[in-house]
Amino acid sequence: MGYHVLTDEQREIRDLVRTLARERIAPRAAEIDESHEFPWDVVELYREHGLFGLFYDEAYGGLGTGTLLALIAIEEVSKVCATSGLILAVQELGSLGLKLAGTDEQKQRYLPRLASGEWLAAYALTESGSGSDSAAMRTTARREDGGYALNGSKRFITNAAVANLYTVFAKTDPDAGHSGISAFVVEADTPGFEVARLEPKLGISGSTTGELTFDDARVPAENLLGEEGEGFKIAMRILDRSRPGIGAQALGLAQGATDYALEYARSRETMGKPIADHQLIAAKLADMETACEAARGLLYGFGQMADAGLDGADLTKASAQAKLFCSDTAMWVTTEAVQILGGYGYIREYPVERMMRDAKITQIYEGTNEIQRLVIAREMLKENRVSQLTAVA
Ligand SMILES: Cc1cc2nc3c(=O)[nH]c(=O)nc-3n(C[C@H](O)[C@H](O)[C@H](O)COP(=O)(O)OP(=O)(O)OC[C@H]3O[C@@H](n4cnc5c(N)ncnc54)[C@H](O)[C@@H]3O)c2cc1C
Repeated sequence: MGYHVLTDEQREIRDLVRTLARERIAPRAAEIDESHEFPWDVVELYREHGLFGLFYDEAYGGLGTGTLLALIAIEEVSKVCATSGLILAVQELGSLGLKLAGTDEQKQRYLPRLASGEWLAAYALTESGSGSDSAAMRTTARREDGGYALNGSKRFITNAAVANLYTVFAKTDPDAGHSGISAFVVEADTPGFEVARLEPKLGISGSTTGELTFDDARVPAENLLGEEGEGFKIAMRILDRSRPGIGAQALGLAQGATDYALEYARSRETMGKPIADHQLIAAKLADMETACEAARGLLYGFGQMADAGLDGADLTKASAQAKLFCSDTAMWVTTEAVQILGGYGYIREYPVERMMRDAKITQIYEGTNEIQRLVIAREMLKENRVSQLTAVA
């Protein structure tokens, strides 16, 4: 399954995003990487063209065009700049708590501002001592006169210091394990809430990754998402829906690197002919293209399932598979792209070294690929499948 599954309307929007990415974002990509500065001009471009609307229903000022197209938009932008693709993916990640568990009132209050891009969102689950084992979190939310007081800290939070709204997970019952966790919407100007620092990192340099601290941060009771104790379930349901966004970022990186390597291999000559005519290079290109197409099949398959209204176990497995395969493909394909460019692949003047650095994080965040494999295997074991070769007694 590839691009041919798209309807005419989807193609039209895909082409608009592709043009914006090529003409407006690609020329900025190297600068964004080198400056380590959050690209507000890209946010402005998304606002002008209504691209944040791709993630929201029409009732909240969005386009209502569904999951598949939202993934395609992230893919198209990430072909030229993974930091800019991540801005779209994290707007979705930070909004999903409201979309999946918010009351009508909460949705009306926040989603239109997120759909227009006036506000940016973030998702704060990870802490310094709890990443894969997120239920081991230490941040607490103590009930007190009509609200909650949050205390603790969160680590590695994308969009720290640029988001206006954070979906934050904290323990309302520290002794109750998974079922003691609750989810909250925290506005950036909440007294007692601060961004303590931003982390320098290997790739996606224009994206902020920060530590959040909560020192008796007062959150009103109406900002609780769902019921007390439902936070862990909400966090996992969010990840089921958001991980493919990282898959889309990864696929964009992989396809972008493949396209660049192909163009380079056509014109770079050694031993009297273009390197693309050396069979070892041709085989690399063929394998890279095939891996991208296979990744696209899993990713778009997830998009179609989500748009068809599927939920539950099927979605969990498809989501983990798309994230796992797209991100492993991105790491492998971008490394091959560097190899095809030889020495030029390793220097900053050419984009593939940035793409290889950017690809690495897609195997780590929103659940490492080890965790994705655990999720997939767990779903397989639940399926109660029998082999066709099992003898029928
Ligand atoms: C740039 C960046 C942006 C991020 N953005 C966000 C964000 O916006 N919001 C947010 O909440 N978090 C975010 N994260 C956090 C990210 O999701 C975690 O770093 C990730 O889930 C891994 O957690 P950890 O770093 O604590 O590693 P650990 O959980 O300590 O894992 C260390 C290693 O052990 C492996 N491992 C752990 N448990 C198991 C197991 N049971 N079986 C097999 N292997 C295992 C892991 O796969 C990994 O290889 C971000 C991280 C980075 C670096």
